[in-house]
Amino acid sequence: MAQDSSPLHMVDVRGQYAHIQSEIDEAVLNVVRSGQYINGPAVRDFTSALATWLGHSEEHPLHVVPCANGTDALQAALMALDLKPGDEVITPSFTFISTVEVIHLLRLTPVMVDVDPCTFTLDAAAVAMAVSPRTKAIMPVHLYGQCADMTALQAVADEHGLSLIEDTAQAIGSAWQGTDGQWGAAGTIGTIGTTSFFPSKNLGAYGDGGACFTRDAALAERLRMICNHGSRQRYQHEIIGMNSRLDSIQAAILGVKLPHLEGYNAARSEAADRYDALLGDHPMVSVPYRHPRSRHVFHQYTIKLNNKGEGPGLRDHVAAHLQAEGVPFGIYYPKPIHQQDAFSDVPGGTPKLPVTEDLTDRVLSLPMHTELTETQQRRVVDAVRGGLDSYI
Ligand SMILES: *Cc1c(COP(=O)(O)O)cnc(C)c1O
Repeated sequence: MAQDSSPLHMVDVRGQYAHIQSEIDEAVLNVVRSGQYINGPAVRDFTSALATWLGHSEEHPLHVVPCANGTDALQAALMALDLKPGDEVITPSFTFISTVEVIHLLRLTPVMVDVDPCTFTLDAAAVAMAVSPRTKAIMPVHLYGQCADMTALQAVADEHGLSLIEDTAQAIGSAWQGTDGQWGAAGTIGTIGTTSFFPSKNLGAYGDGGACFTRDAALAERLRMICNHGSRQRYQHEIIGMNSRLDSIQAAILGVKLPHLEGYNAARSEAADRYDALLGDHPMVSVPYRHPRSRHVFHQYTIKLNNKGEGPGLRDHVAAHLQAEGVPFGIYYPKPIHQQDAFSDVPGGTPKLPVTEDLTDRVLSLPMHTELTETQQRRVVDAVRGGLDSYI
């Protein structure tokens, strides 16, 4: 059999660009030539196309508010809720730093709770236990491309009158099936959803970008003001805001890519199926659990290594083996947020989150992108198996 020696990538943004190069180049040049670099028509067009894509209709409007990146989107979402210093926001610790960082920046109190051992997303039972009279919001993260249990989280939110902010940075195109059987797009189910267009995300720009989603027209208006210095009318600042815009060039690129997103997510899902088939029988590996009520769009394909005993021994051994073989991999995330130095002085002290702490020792993400071939995946899996087999 001919050996495919094409380089392996964790993500392959250049390979993806090659398929749509002429459309992208034209869209970028159009912006450059138009001179409308800030809030130009490309931003409006992409924003309304994305709203439609996510399920906007006349009867059931969805508002999309673009901004500069996914971290700003989370910050704007919290600012829109008009919380008071010391108000508590319940969030996972098994996430990217942004989710917790913005809570702290706004002088709110992050209450980090544990995740579900199957989906690695926010555990609704742990959330319910953590609710206090100061709790104002829950911020689930749709990790790796799969939804947190929105039905259970919504129930907790409704019972206590809390807002629900969905961090959809990794899960655009995912969906959750409610008890009525209806599927809702990830990010459009809670009070506000946020996403990121960081290049490696499922809908990636060629730079930074982000957006907030909401079904609430008043909140949408507040979000728009917040992203524009708290202003509706030039030089009239009604509330404290920020300067957070989606760049016109990035919007033009995203406008070209959006019609491909369904195909991109399908390609990721097919690659995930192939990994499952190649690796699912190994006793030391758990392949990603797929919740029957969530569509998984595989931002990451993350395996869990079934270490004997505690500690990252097996995972680190396999990682070192992949490194030696020149096979890229990622560890999302190697250290939980609640154990980061930046959060060493959060009120209430460092919590104990056994599932989160265990996962940070066991997870390993394999190359996952839209250009991945079966031959490349066999090379990845051979190297993973080589690492497992050489572990004593
Ligand atoms: C990428 C990411 C963000 C931040 O997005 P940026 O656009 O890089 O600011 C926030 N939350 C999660 C879960 C992410 O994966």
